[in-house]
Amino acid sequence: MANLNIDSKQERTYDAIVIGSGISGGWSAKELCEKGLKTLVLERGRNVEHIKDYPTTNMLPWEFEHRGKIKQEVEEENPVVSRCYAYREDTKHFFVKDTEHPYVQEKPFDWIRGYQVGGKSLLWARQTQRWSKYDFEGPARDGFAVDWPIRYEDLAPWYSHVEKFTGIAGNKDGLDNLPDGEFLPAWELNCVEKYFKQQLESQYKGRNLISSRCAHLSQPQAIHLEQGRGQCQNRALCQRGCPFGGYFSSNSSTLPWAAKTGNMTLRPHSVVHSIIYDEEKGKATGVRVIDAESKEMIEFYAQIIFVNASALHTNHLLLNSTSNRFPNGLGNDNGLLGKYVAFHNYRARISAEYEGQLDSATVGRRPTSGYIPRFRNVYAQETDFLRGYASGFSAGRRVERDYDGLGSSLKENLLNPEWGNWRVGSHMMGETIPKESNYVALDTEQKDAWGIPLLKINVEYDDNDDKMVEDFKEQFTEMYTKAGFTNIRTSDSHQAPGLDIHEMGGVRMGHDPKTSLLDKWNRLHACKNVFVTDGACMTSTSTQNPSLTYMAFSARAADFAVQEMKKLNI
Ligand SMILES: Cc1cc2nc3c(=O)[nH]c(=O)nc-3n(C[C@H](O)[C@H](O)[C@H](O)COP(=O)(O)OP(=O)(O)OC[C@H]3O[C@@H](n4cnc5c(N)ncnc54)[C@H](O)[C@@H]3O)c2cc1C
Repeated sequence: MANLNIDSKQERTYDAIVIGSGISGGWSAKELCEKGLKTLVLERGRNVEHIKDYPTTNMLPWEFEHRGKIKQEVEEENPVVSRCYAYREDTKHFFVKDTEHPYVQEKPFDWIRGYQVGGKSLLWARQTQRWSKYDFEGPARDGFAVDWPIRYEDLAPWYSHVEKFTGIAGNKDGLDNLPDGEFLPAWELNCVEKYFKQQLESQYKGRNLISSRCAHLSQPQAIHLEQGRGQCQNRALCQRGCPFGGYFSSNSSTLPWAAKTGNMTLRPHSVVHSIIYDEEKGKATGVRVIDAESKEMIEFYAQIIFVNASALHTNHLLLNSTSNRFPNGLGNDNGLLGKYVAFHNYRARISAEYEGQLDSATVGRRPTSGYIPRFRNVYAQETDFLRGYASGFSAGRRVERDYDGLGSSLKENLLNPEWGNWRVGSHMMGETIPKESNYVALDTEQKDAWGIPLLKINVEYDDNDDKMVEDFKEQFTEMYTKAGFTNIRTSDSHQAPGLDIHEMGGVRMGHDPKTSLLDKWNRLHACKNVFVTDGACMTSTSTQNPSLTYMAFSARAADFAVQEMKKLNI
């Protein structure tokens, strides 16, 4: 039962409520606050303040008890999160432990989560490639999922808007399958990366290698300095939280900007239980929150609600928001809520050596490397699987030490290390096809510590993904061979879905309320003052990293919502 004694109803009433303070919630909050709306940002986790709450950011390797590694017993207790490459001794405080927040895996799914102010914006790898027209046209052209209700041109100005504020390093590469944006100077490819670029682009039409675009301030502009952010120092310790604000996070950028307007109220430790739907008014009027510390239920009210809890949490929350009008979840007239979940396929890798360029080596760090945009099935269907994959590419050279010998010969060997061959590697980033059978739902029996039904996840790879893995291995073996790389090795990790951390869908956008949940402005067809602008809104997944697109959607939807409010349409 809601506790109505906490404050008066008026004190719990805002113009807007944003649920979640991660990458997309930060952008919704910034835009709504800047446009003058008194905005309440609700975050289930603890507060994390920029710089102050980055406990490991300046620690040296030997200051870590386990030199950065996770203890075996912790790994055994948390098998899912331990599979994430970024879950280490220096970052583990930003990850949700499996034991603390269970979910039901009807099929294996590695759900990687960050519950805190800033969400996963403190953990992400900051890769920010725009989607292209081929991505938004894809479902209609290739006949899967449903047609997107927008096209690239609808989002392009919002990509620009977001990129300028966030700060994206990249080159204008002039590729129509990876549109250019508003870039700061790019990080340079090293000599072997440049060599492969030249080989690839001279031997294949439509295959390119670029410096991967990333959310790092290579050359801060006035707007970034105004945010209190500074130049990226190439420390490559980003996932500990960057005290320079060199990379983009909600904590260093959008949330402080929103706070500066005086319009934001940030409430951590606030687990949103459900959205309140008023049948007489025919719209949502607020949210029910369980205070994570006192366990009390409190209601907050607003004219518009932005759901930015991250894709699967957003599905969870909407499914749990039931009423007489919506017995199966808010806006779920067509029964499709939670369905057509999709993700990325990061299963395959390839590595090799290069015996050239032995007169050069690189030392030092940089926050990004190379990127090969999707080249399969872009202009026409060429293979027996739908869609395609993008890929990373990086090259590096290691110092090899000879540990052979005894006494003075061993000493001699250790004191005279030599550069080894260049090593090169790529990983695939494949588009998976959204399907009705890939869904999430509420578990009918088990509940979490707040009395909310656990989320049940039923998602798996399919034949299309398997074929794509094989194609990646074949195509990259061919490209590596043509470039003269040797000792080529390919692998398929056979990992469970989820580990790509790019889960999307379940509340997809579309033209038709019969086949989609959200309209072209990211609002529920059936409840027009609730907006979903995180990964849950995605109709298909593309091959590019998705978070830049969530940011652009958030800014676009916030602009539309405020205009509608001004016209008294909401
Ligand atoms: C290691 C790693 C590397 C990644 N690399 C990249 C990359 O290179 N490029 C890229 O595009 N993406 C990357 N991602 C993914 C990226 O982090 C996510 O796509 C992005 O954070 C999603 O933004 P969001 O706002 O939807 O969710 P989040 O940033 O996760 O924020 C959601 C917030 O909502 C809160 N919340 C959830 N449920 C509730 C509730 N019921 N009530 C209140 N609050 C709630 C959560 O606690 C969280 O703070 C990476 C992620 C990780 C972990």
